Amino acid sequence: MSEAKPLPPILLVTGAGRGIGAATAVLAARQGWDVAINYRRDTAAAQAVADRVRAQGRRALVVQAEVDDEAQVLAMFAAIDRGLGRLSGLVNNAGVVDVAARVDEGSVARWQRMFAINVIGSMLCAREALRRMSRRHGGAGGAIVNVSSAASRLGSAGQYVDYAASKGAIDSFTIGLAREVAAEGVRVNAVRPGIVETEIHASGGEPDRAGRLGPQVPMQRAGRVDEIADAICWLLGSGASYTTGALLDVSGGR
Ligand code: NAP
Repeated sequence: MSEAKPLPPILLVTGAGRGIGAATAVLAARQGWDVAINYRRDTAAAQAVADRVRAQGRRALVVQAEVDDEAQVLAMFAAIDRGLGRLSGLVNNAGVVDVAARVDEGSVARWQRMFAINVIGSMLCAREALRRMSRRHGGAGGAIVNVSSAASRLGSAGQYVDYAASKGAIDSFTIGLAREVAAEGVRVNAVRPGIVETEIHASGGEPDRAGRLGPQVPMQRAGRVDEIADAICWLLGSGASYTTGALLDVSGGR
């Protein structure tokens, strides 16, 4: 009698239309995951990532949603349930910075946006993922990787302390959630990238930030998206089967 073929693992990557999220979606597909590609604005970019996932022989589903909008997140998870099946991996990658501003120049609107997307968005997606993965909810287990930042321990003084604080919240969330669900078959970890060449720096008003600060990093260069994706995919996979609650710095020694 032949054994039933195991179902392919199903992964959601938020903010996967570009940057670290896109690199993670494609590498995960290469490692055997079917991938739901969440995006906010650029449908064509998300479709192009889906094509790269399918080129690895895996299924891809493109899902538009703002991670800080509960109704949109619920609709996104329902679409994944229907389109791909029961989730076993989540990468909370979607995140924003803002232009440089000291705390004494800050506004409540700015801080609310930063925390809504970076913190509440990640918590919302984690909640919905746990309702599918955790053995407490009849799931078969899984892995969550939160994309934090080296900023959580450096503080980003004079640039965006609010962003650093939002990533500090992600670190605490990672540690606490990891312990909360460790006995339910779900591992929760975070990657803390240093300075990586992506478009996020342009949205912070400094498109060449990686080029300017790269030489000051102990390894004397900025990181590449594939180097961050490698760490994320390791934490997602069976090689990290005894790793939970870890905050993995991928920052060239910074
Ligand atoms: P990126 O190229 O700007 O990508 C960020 C992605 O998040 C974009 O695709 C963006 O979509 C999406 N996003 C933003 N708000 C969203 C929302 N409300 N709902 C859904 N998606 C949303 O930046 P990246 O550098 O790859 O950043 C990825 C993660 O790495 C972030 O969490 C960031 O904080 C973290 N990180 C980056 C660095 C670095 O140096 N690059 C360092 C440390 C940590 P739209 O294009 O539609 O806005």
